[in-house]
Amino acid sequence: MVFFLFAGGVMRRRFFILVSVLVGLWTIGPFQAQADQPSFRVFLDVTDAPEVGTDAVKASALVKEWYPKINGFLFDHAHPLPFNLVVLSFEPNPAIKNAPAFAMGNVIHVNSNYIQHMPDDFRALMVHELTHINQHYPSKKPDSVWIIEGIADYVRHKYYEKDIQLTLRMNSKGQLTGYSSAEPLFYNLQSAGTSLDDRGYLQQYTVAATFLYWLEARKDPDIIHHLNTALSQDQYKPDLFRILCGRPLDDLWGEFVTESKTGRPALGGPITEKSVH
Ligand SMILES: [Zn+2]
Repeated sequence: MVFFLFAGGVMRRRFFILVSVLVGLWTIGPFQAQADQPSFRVFLDVTDAPEVGTDAVKASALVKEWYPKINGFLFDHAHPLPFNLVVLSFEPNPAIKNAPAFAMGNVIHVNSNYIQHMPDDFRALMVHELTHINQHYPSKKPDSVWIIEGIADYVRHKYYEKDIQLTLRMNSKGQLTGYSSAEPLFYNLQSAGTSLDDRGYLQQYTVAATFLYWLEARKDPDIIHHLNTALSQDQYKPDLFRILCGRPLDDLWGEFVTESKTGRPALGGPITEKSVH
């Protein structure tokens, strides 16, 4: 913590740690920045949560590696990064209460209390929030929120945790079964007995991520890229699913639910199934 004394009191100065510089000059493993890629910096603000210590340093390393990586997954590596500065702000009382973290603009606000209790989950959570910074869509319309959150969890589970699934485990009523508290979203829906039969994708997050992964495997291998492009250009419409995948969105969801319940593709088998981790 840094303090400056002024006449009449003590004024605390925001304590920024400059952790990474000029990615163009800094090799970050196999995803070294391209020569034509803009450099970026990562700032850590631990003013209100100095106890996060090494977790903050780990988070900065993650951003250095994954910010350009995610850009490549969603767009391509030649696509300019949306910001040349990413700020990680660790806060004991973030503005959105009870949220482990949230992203606004180029800032990820991290609930420092949460990461003390969920150290394993913490970095995967950062990948989700960092994906929002990469997305940087011009608007967040209500009918696309589930896709925005689904893509963030798709990146998290497919590329970072490598545990994305092709279908969900559910009973004949569309209720999830067999999940543990290690998968909080699924577990909470399961505990509440929520049926996903009717537009269950609106549950967002990992439910939507699983559906998007299923669409990628069964209908359109480039679905994520297409959706991301449409959202980036503020041109997303639900009818895009019919155009890309051949059926209306809710019919596709129905197919996904049927396969989740039965373990068998509803319409005669996989088209472009990929390996599932
Ligand atoms: Zn999110």
